[in-house]
Amino acid sequence: MSIIQKLHKDLVNKKNSSVEITRNYLNKIKDKEKDLNAFITISEEQALKDAQKIDDNIKAGKSIDLLAGLPGALKDNISVSGGKTTAGSKILENHVASYDATVTRRLKNSGAVLVGKTNCDEFACGSSTESSAFGITKNPYDLTRVPGGSSGGSAAAVASEEVVWALGTDTGGSVRQPASFCGIVGLKPTYGRISRYGVISYASSLDQIGIMTKTVEDAAIVLTRIAGEDKLDATSAHSSDRIYEHYLSGDLTGKKIGIPKEYVSKNLNESIKNKFFEAVEKYKECGAEIIDISLPHTEYALATYYIIAPSELSSNLARYDGVRYGLSFKQGDFDNIQDFYRKIRGSGFGSEIKRRVILGTYALSSGYYDEYYKKAQKIRGLIRKDFEIAFKKVDYIFTPTTPETAFKIGEKSDPLMAYLSDIYTITANLAGIPAISHPIGTVETDGINLPIGGQLFGKWFDEEGILNAAFTFEKNF
Ligand code: GLN
Repeated sequence: MSIIQKLHKDLVNKKNSSVEITRNYLNKIKDKEKDLNAFITISEEQALKDAQKIDDNIKAGKSIDLLAGLPGALKDNISVSGGKTTAGSKILENHVASYDATVTRRLKNSGAVLVGKTNCDEFACGSSTESSAFGITKNPYDLTRVPGGSSGGSAAAVASEEVVWALGTDTGGSVRQPASFCGIVGLKPTYGRISRYGVISYASSLDQIGIMTKTVEDAAIVLTRIAGEDKLDATSAHSSDRIYEHYLSGDLTGKKIGIPKEYVSKNLNESIKNKFFEAVEKYKECGAEIIDISLPHTEYALATYYIIAPSELSSNLARYDGVRYGLSFKQGDFDNIQDFYRKIRGSGFGSEIKRRVILGTYALSSGYYDEYYKKAQKIRGLIRKDFEIAFKKVDYIFTPTTPETAFKIGEKSDPLMAYLSDIYTITANLAGIPAISHPIGTVETDGINLPIGGQLFGKWFDEEGILNAAFTFEKNF
């Protein structure tokens, strides 16, 4: 049984109260935070108040939602009205959101208990959570290693059982890569499946909210609560809503899973490759047919992404000028308007953001737009086409989530090395398809066993398909 199902049962059978459950998790947070630093904000008082409301409803004989009364966390780029929302950046250090994101509102309507906001790379740019202005988050499996990123706080919090579930955002892998590094489940739905209203934008044609939990069923339960069309987000899709947890049959008979040769090439570490092919065998045992396929434009994905994402970032971040919100200076602290912007943006943004804003502004500039951004969009079309062709032959595509296990803090000071961390995840964002990372075991790294994930890509809007495939794997192994 999933963690959410079990806790829910205890609540309705009055074996446990939401206040007790929430306190229990808050105690774990107190215990572990000095080591992990998974949170930027912890809202203990509000969480206990919300938990009490659920207990009152249960006492009054009212029925409650599956997620009601169960503690979870949001990445700190998702707005909660009246709460600090920093996106891991100094420029938004004291920014208080004036409204709830749609996902926040939907979670509150379900009665979920929000215990806090999790740490992340600044504006979700990164793969390690080291670029947060609020300290590094550590990997619960080894405190000398990163939890992955950019949703590293959410991953560490779920993996160490500080919360039952957490949300992250995934622009190029930021939910799936930390899920792989921390041994949990990470789901990035189809572009448009979940409203992004109230989420601090990074790269708008790629961003999507994702879900991090310990079990696949729990991810399905959370998805049901937050997915669906939203008038407040023009990119949200007119897709029919589903109760995803009802699609977990645990049966894969007759399903075809493609293994793309480009994802298991010579660059993949040998022990991860072995672990991955063990997982392929397990999928066979679950009744799936395994088919070798090719996604020929994969080799261009990283370069394409690192034109599109910084370009859109540079445009989205133009709003942080110190005038309306965030970091600001008083009259007298600057000479003129240019000096004001220079000082705000110069001291408010970290070095990775500055690097990307400069690159993005260059790629979008009038003389270079056609050569860079437009060309990248064309290649993006080819990458999407690869998937369209592949999905005529197979139902799902299975790959390693990451080419390595969690790396050491400080190990990837060269940004190009860090970018390679997302080599297997970014294609799903470029194509807009759903993808899930689920644990496939551990791999010995420098004498310790570290978790690693396998990734399933699905057809556009087939979240229930990949959830069921991952669920079947999880149930059998
Ligand atoms: N690591 C990638 C980047 O830095 C992906 C980040 C994300 O998905 N938010 O852009």
